[in-house]
This record gives sequence, structure tokens and C-alpha cells, in this order.
Amino acid sequence: MDWKPVLAAIEAATAPHIGSGKVADYIPALARVDPSKFGMAVVLGSGEMLTLGDSHEPFSIQSISKVFTLSMALRWFGESVWDRVGREPSGSAFNSIIQLENEKGIPRNPLINAGAIVITDMLVAASSADAVVNELIARLRRFSGDETIKIDEEVAESESATGSRNRALAYFMASFGNMNNSVEESLGAYFRQCAVRMSCRQLARAALFLAFDGRDPITREQMVSREYCRRINAVMMSCGHYDNSGDFAYRIGLPGKSGVGGGILAVAPGHGVIATWSPGLNAAGTSMVGAVALEELVEATGWSVFV
Ligand code: GLU
Repeated sequence: MDWKPVLAAIEAATAPHIGSGKVADYIPALARVDPSKFGMAVVLGSGEMLTLGDSHEPFSIQSISKVFTLSMALRWFGESVWDRVGREPSGSAFNSIIQLENEKGIPRNPLINAGAIVITDMLVAASSADAVVNELIARLRRFSGDETIKIDEEVAESESATGSRNRALAYFMASFGNMNNSVEESLGAYFRQCAVRMSCRQLARAALFLAFDGRDPITREQMVSREYCRRINAVMMSCGHYDNSGDFAYRIGLPGKSGVGGGILAVAPGHGVIATWSPGLNAAGTSMVGAVALEELVEATGWSVFV
């Protein structure tokens, strides 16, 4: 494929929107990010990387970390993961508590906050909070071949200091017996996983296995089984953007996951992985410029899974 016109089309489509949307401010340390940033990286199966804008600049991956912890949990525990968390779209905000009462403390899916907290709780119960975070960082470094990836401790502390909503979700689930550790221990790991800082280049490279049946095409390491890779992508397609997941599937048609730090990770099975970053969010918490960039990319490449 000739990438020059594709990248030019993405630049032209995104330019009028740069700076639009609202930077997440409920985590104070995130509110300081410059809203005019935009970066994008596309990594192909050959390892070739195509980039735009601030693709080098690390940002807070936030909820995109949930894809990596879900991969770890499926590897460690297999199907039993689904005893404690569902795999249906929530149709609610990322931090909603409403469904949890009706559904007896079983979160709708692993990509909303409640579901991701349960996933992290499972991992922590099998090892420890420090071990889970260390394993996550080690995997991200190994996948992306970049030892500089780390946690932004200031963001983790800021999120903990303002984390009443996540504590409410976790205690509520504990009241139904769906937490195996102390709430503070599991949330400590959850806040830190969300505070990992990565650039678009590192993120797209680290997730490349998701486009190639769970196997990193460069190192040839099998990160998750083929079956689980397919299913992680299915969950991303149906649940990756909170109450915005249907709209994202309609507009872009790729499995994806957004984070309130402004990142979006999108998987084009058999082709490659795309990471975008632009901090301004829509009302559901998805990066506005990132979604425009991905919409243009699928238009120009024909990479939507619905062709
Ligand atoms: N760390 C964020 C929270 O728990 C993640 C939200 C997100 O990125 O969607 O509120």
C-alpha cells in the first residue's frame, strides 16, 4: 500500500478538529495535558511503522491497560474468568454503578471499570499487587522492545486520591462476594496499571499480537492463544468504548479500546495495529480526533473488519 496519500488524508481530516473535545479532569493530574496534541502510529506485521504528529510522546494509557490485563487473565485462568465478569456491552458510562446491583455484583464486561477491577483482583489473588504491576510492565516492555515504559506515579496517586467512584464499585462488588482481596490492594494495582505511560509507537507495537492470532509477528512469541485473541478482539469490538461502542463499530468497524487519557488502540486483524492519541474526549470518554483519524484510516485502507 502507498501510505503517503493515506497519511495525508488523515492529516487533512483531523486538522480542523485538533483541540476539540474535553480533556478528562476528574483525575487532576490528567487535566494538565495540552489539548492540541495529536499522534498516531500504525504498525504492520512486517514491523514497518507509519507515524503522524506526536507519536513519540508518552501519555497515560488509562483504560487501554484493561486489554493487557484481560489478556493476562485469560492466559492465567482461561474460561473461569467468565464466572466473575460478563462479556456484554454495558450501554452505560465507564464508571457506572447502576447495573451492578441488578446483576448481583457481576460487571457487564472486562473493559468497563468494574469489570477491569475484578480482572485485576483475580490476578492479584493469584500473586500480589506488586507482582501483577511488575508483570504488566515487563510484558509491555518486552512486547514493544522498549525498556523506558513506566508508570506515572503522580497520575496513580492522583487517581487514588480522587478514586471514590472506583472504591464504591469495588466495595459494592465485595458485598456480593466478587472481590478476593482487600479493595485497597486490588485498587492499588488497578490505579497503577491505568497510570502506565506509553507513546503511540510503543502501544501499537506492544499490541501487535492482537492482529496476528495472538502471536507477535516479529518475535514469533505466542502472547495469547489464537482462540483467546479472537475473543479479546470480539470484546473490544462490542465493549471497548463504554456507551459509545456501537457508534465506534459503526464509524470505524475495528476492535478498539479507548482510554480517558485520550488514547485509542485499534486492531486491524491480519493487517496491523493502530494507536492514536489526542486528549480531547467526547461525552462518552473517547478521543474525538483519534476517532476521526481512525475513520479516515479505514476509509483509505479498507481495513474495517466489515470491509
Ligand atoms: N483510570 C480510569 C478510571 O478508573 C480509567 C477510565 C478510562 O480510561 O476509561 O476512572
